[in-house]
Amino acid sequence: SFKVAIIGRPNVGKSTLFNRLAGKKLALVDDTPGVTRDRRIHPAKLYDLAFEVIDTAGFETAAPETLQGRMREQTEKAIDEADLVIFLVDARAGLLPDDKAFADIVRKSGKPVVLAANKAESRGSEAGLLEAWEAGLGEPVPISAEHGQGIPDLRDAIVEALGEERCFPEEEDEEFAAESGVLIGEDIGDVDAEPAYDEAKPLRIAVVGRPNAGKSTLINTLIGEERLLTGPEAGITRDSISVDWDWRGRRIKLFDTAGMRRKAKVQEKLEKLSVADGLRAIKFAEVVVVVLDSTIPFEKQDLQIADLIIREGRAPVIAFNKWDLIDTPQQTLAELREATERLLPQARGIRAVPISAETGRGLDKLMEAIIETHRVWNRRISTGRLNRWLEGILAHHPPPAVAGRRLKVKYVTQVKTRPPGFVLSMTRPEAMPQSYLRYLTNSLRESFDMPGVPIRIAPRASE
Ligand code: GDP
Repeated sequence: SFKVAIIGRPNVGKSTLFNRLAGKKLALVDDTPGVTRDRRIHPAKLYDLAFEVIDTAGFETAAPETLQGRMREQTEKAIDEADLVIFLVDARAGLLPDDKAFADIVRKSGKPVVLAANKAESRGSEAGLLEAWEAGLGEPVPISAEHGQGIPDLRDAIVEALGEERCFPEEEDEEFAAESGVLIGEDIGDVDAEPAYDEAKPLRIAVVGRPNAGKSTLINTLIGEERLLTGPEAGITRDSISVDWDWRGRRIKLFDTAGMRRKAKVQEKLEKLSVADGLRAIKFAEVVVVVLDSTIPFEKQDLQIADLIIREGRAPVIAFNKWDLIDTPQQTLAELREATERLLPQARGIRAVPISAETGRGLDKLMEAIIETHRVWNRRISTGRLNRWLEGILAHHPPPAVAGRRLKVKYVTQVKTRPPGFVLSMTRPEAMPQSYLRYLTNSLRESFDMPGVPIRIAPRASE
């Protein structure tokens, strides 16, 4: 847990914010002479953030003649003790000389700081919000401590200032991401502390599909094209299960299930093997390309693999291969896409690209689809945006009443990426109908443009 100090001159609203975070009214401050009051520390919650907040709000009532001196001392002590400072200004009043004096103290401390401009709900607060920049503490987050506006943004600003790792110190179970096979509505595990999207890391792709769908051809053509561009084998390393190469400067690690097959030395029938191979490859990969032979109809096995990819939380992309053999491309594509959407409703908007592994046509489009899907799979949406979305949902299509009582949804936060996972804080989460979760998932997908990747929503009891 980390400690937060709310700093600012008198009357900017520190107590109100304190009460909102600590969830209680402060006891009246005892300023009887001779009684040394300890700065008190209270547990606080802000959505999924748990921390402690240092009470610095009381000294406003100190005797005026000692105000400056006492406040300065108390402020410095509190800042010293804090891991993060919320510096509060009053957007309605604008930036006063006192604000600047306090801001100096905060700046000199070097502590992570979030600048919040309070009373932003008031008319005429825009000018004050602009002035708040002059505190030299970065971008002000407009909030209303009293009315609760902007509080989700405050949460995001705290996470940004302090870093995900400090905010969510629990060790992320490494295996969780790789092993989780949970579906929408099931427990999606704890908050993760994954680093932000890193373009420099190789994107891990697996290619799966039935025997003869064209997997080996696809891999060879992809790497072969690169070889033509970069010279013989330059930048390409290959072992029995994976190939490292570059596509337009993006590092790629491609898992070759055919290679895995050889390595496994399992002398079973090929039909059986493709699923087992796929399984193994899926565990390693981020994006999984399902290669289908477009000249033959979808088979159950193809979809089993796709379904598995989604359940494993990986990002699927479909390649309709052997497109050079298709006589009626437009009609066939429409049919294939329709079938894909119908048979894989869990990943609406899944990207499906016609290709010819043999001639290389469509491979650029395929790679673009892979990278775009990977990006969506890594998507993180701010708590502020999410809760504005939720507000709209609750206004127009609130959750149903179950057993005569309405379910109350309080807020939503994104707790995971890869794939995106959300927690819905609510009353009676166990009563939440799957159909409503599905509705929320689809709306999230559309509102935040996240086609074709698994999305998970877990209802949790709000405290
Ligand atoms: P894998 O078992 O999935 O690795 O499939 P292969 O890559 O070995 O391909 C199976 C067969 O399909 C081979 O005879 C390939 O030449 C052929 N093939 C693969 N891709 C294409 C394609 O895009 N067009 C055509 N016409 N044939 C292809």
